[in-house]
Amino acid sequence: MRRWNGWGDDQFSLELPEEGQAFLAQRIGRATPLQDVTLEQVCNELPASRLPSDPVMADLIDVSDDARVRHARGQSLVDWLAMRSGDIGTYPDGVAFPASNSDVRALLRYAHDHDLHLIPYGGGTSVAGHINPVDQGKPILTVSLAKMNRLLDLDRESQLATFGAGTPGPLVEAQLRAHGYTLGHFPQSFELSTIGGWVASRSSGQQSLRYGRIEQLFAGGRIETLQGTLTIPTIPASSAGPDIREMILGSEGRLGLITEVQARVSRLPEQENFYVVFFPSWDQARTAARQLAQDRIQLSMLRLSNPIETETQLALAGHPGLIGMLEKFLSLRGAGDGKCMMTFGVTGSKASVAPP
Ligand SMILES: Cc1cc2nc3c(=O)[nH]c(=O)nc-3n(C[C@H](O)[C@H](O)[C@H](O)COP(=O)(O)OP(=O)(O)OC[C@H]3O[C@@H](n4cnc5c(N)ncnc54)[C@H](O)[C@@H]3O)c2cc1C
Repeated sequence: MRRWNGWGDDQFSLELPEEGQAFLAQRIGRATPLQDVTLEQVCNELPASRLPSDPVMADLIDVSDDARVRHARGQSLVDWLAMRSGDIGTYPDGVAFPASNSDVRALLRYAHDHDLHLIPYGGGTSVAGHINPVDQGKPILTVSLAKMNRLLDLDRESQLATFGAGTPGPLVEAQLRAHGYTLGHFPQSFELSTIGGWVASRSSGQQSLRYGRIEQLFAGGRIETLQGTLTIPTIPASSAGPDIREMILGSEGRLGLITEVQARVSRLPEQENFYVVFFPSWDQARTAARQLAQDRIQLSMLRLSNPIETETQLALAGHPGLIGMLEKFLSLRGAGDGKCMMTFGVTGSKASVAPP
């Protein structure tokens, strides 16, 4: 089951290797672990829900303590500290799980009629506080799109796929790959974040260099608002006035609930290769990255880590023998001010993805 006070599934726990712990202690001092509160303790402290009762809504809204706690915070460090210490502050008064556009419209009417605060919720991976309830004296209803999680249509001719907005990353890819396509959108939160959340937060992914950021992939969709339904057609670029998609991209749920996303998909590439290169100095690494970008070399990803990030990643992975060999090798290449790691990917046909 999804961990209630941190990342991932609670069946899996990864311990930091000893070398990693020693590295952190040397860098930032020894840590004093927090005394974690339990889910049960937090639930026992929960104030009663303030949602007005409505028999029609009872099937759509979960007012259980468990659901309210699990949807109270995002995934930033501040959120984790709040969840683990139990100092959470404000909770939603209930969590709705609509399964259709008409459910969403009914929820909007209910929120309007009872003057509720409404928070759209995708995968809950926000690190910017946008899904955290703020107490302003009104009942708060969080609306999770988790049940709207399917591929609804795939137009092969135009390479457009329509998804329920609550479809999480792994389901987006699995449903497309079954037909030989990919969206190619891989934010680091891919495992839990959703296609609607990507649009609402203007997300970028690890392979956006090849497939485009979400603003290039978002072709159209459906948004339920308090004023009615907004349908954005999948027109290509237009020279007639502003592009309404730009209003929805990055809107963070303020204009309405995105219920369907139409996205531009690509045929699965024949081959994908990823490489890591180390440089002895930041100057050399930066120059190489700039040259690759300016020469428009067709890469699917390019990521450069400065000396601190490189050292931290290597130390936390914990392979002292290999790190020693790498340092020895780099020192033979001349003096540097700290090793830097460049990761890049090449994606395409077998012929075009030859090792460099
Ligand atoms: C470990 C980690 C790695 C991350 N890596 C990346 C990264 O590589 N690239 C990146 O861009 N971001 C990254 N993020 C940030 C976050 O994952 C993204 O912002 C993501 O797009 C949020 O998607 P979500 O489905 O989890 O949305 P949520 O967190 O649930 O919501 C985000 C915002 O969108 C709104 N919203 C969600 N769904 C809808 C909807 N259907 N209709 C209307 N509004 C909606 C919410 O109200 C909120 O304002 C990362 C976060 C973490 C914790």
